Amino acid sequence: MTPRGACPSLAAPMPTGDGLLLRAPPGWWSPAVVLAIADAADRFGNGVVEITARGSLQIRGLRAETAEACADALVTGGIVDAPPVLVGPLAGRDRSEIADPRGIAAAIVEGWPEGLAAKTSVVVDGGGALHLDAVGADLRLVAVDASNWAMGLGDKWLARVPVEEAAPAALAALRHLGTRRAREVATESTNPPPASRAPAEPIGWHAAGALGVAGAFGALEARTLAAFADAAPPDSLLRPAPGRALLVLGLNPAQGAALREKAAAFGLVTDPADPRRRIAACPGSPACASGEAATRELAASLAMLAELPPGIIHISGCAKGCAHPGPAAITLVGCDGGFGLVRGGVARDHPACHLAPRDIAAALKEWPTP
Ligand code: SF4
Repeated sequence: MTPRGACPSLAAPMPTGDGLLLRAPPGWWSPAVVLAIADAADRFGNGVVEITARGSLQIRGLRAETAEACADALVTGGIVDAPPVLVGPLAGRDRSEIADPRGIAAAIVEGWPEGLAAKTSVVVDGGGALHLDAVGADLRLVAVDASNWAMGLGDKWLARVPVEEAAPAALAALRHLGTRRAREVATESTNPPPASRAPAEPIGWHAAGALGVAGAFGALEARTLAAFADAAPPDSLLRPAPGRALLVLGLNPAQGAALREKAAAFGLVTDPADPRRRIAACPGSPACASGEAATRELAASLAMLAELPPGIIHISGCAKGCAHPGPAAITLVGCDGGFGLVRGGVARDHPACHLAPRDIAAALKEWPTP
């Protein structure tokens, strides 16, 4: 079993407020595999499948015996644990991609050094419509052009490397991660970061032949997920994606439009402007043992308001701020069954005031416009 603070996986579930949690890395799965995932969540878990901000898949509400059965069901479906080396959900399928990252990612997975800290993560970003700029990582490779990759450690950019040296250079950097020498190299580095680009938006239609949808606040009822997978063409592929989204790949525009209509009828988010996309909410209480307030209940009620204040509204069950680590226009942090309100900061900042859940909608309605 995974201790608190480490990363759960299929082999090592993690205890949370409502039992054990299993996490699986993202993959490109047939509708039949997604049906098996939904069935496993329904039979063994709490009937909800979550997609995380990094695009991993989570099932909660398991017990020791059901966690094993659930993991077995997922492994039988072809889902396996793997080192956390992330590529974009459209990798190898997007013509606007600068370079295909999959070969480099596979080589890093194959050579993954032993003894790395459990939370070590790598991003191999080939660019394109769904680049990974918003996804944090200890080590990052970003395609600069067809033959060269920029390598970053934390917020420092090291030397640019040719494609054939990208995986060996990344593995060498991983082996030295956390050492004094690695910190010195990063501190001395003066390489410029790759060019900035517009934020990636996974929801909606993508020219690469993909449709992005999402459950409210990243949570999909297992039955809704099953109905959606059932509605997807049998030869399509589904992939959880960063931004708590679910992509369906291999569609033509007519299939995309028809599936989008069905997804909307199932209550899924299909429009980037849906107010539920502006509210980040962790599972909170009672799903998470650290949660001090019912976050998703509040999120659902705020999403019904006719108008929300501009910017991201982050509702966090505690000061850890799992759902949105960066600053948000408004952060509501669970505290003694109510919420502390932080303006323009993060969940661990000192709140300006405390509010009872019933008073929050009124406070947001009167929020001053900038
Ligand atoms: S932020 Fe939310 S999910 Fe994270 S530990 Fe706190 S209550 Fe749990």
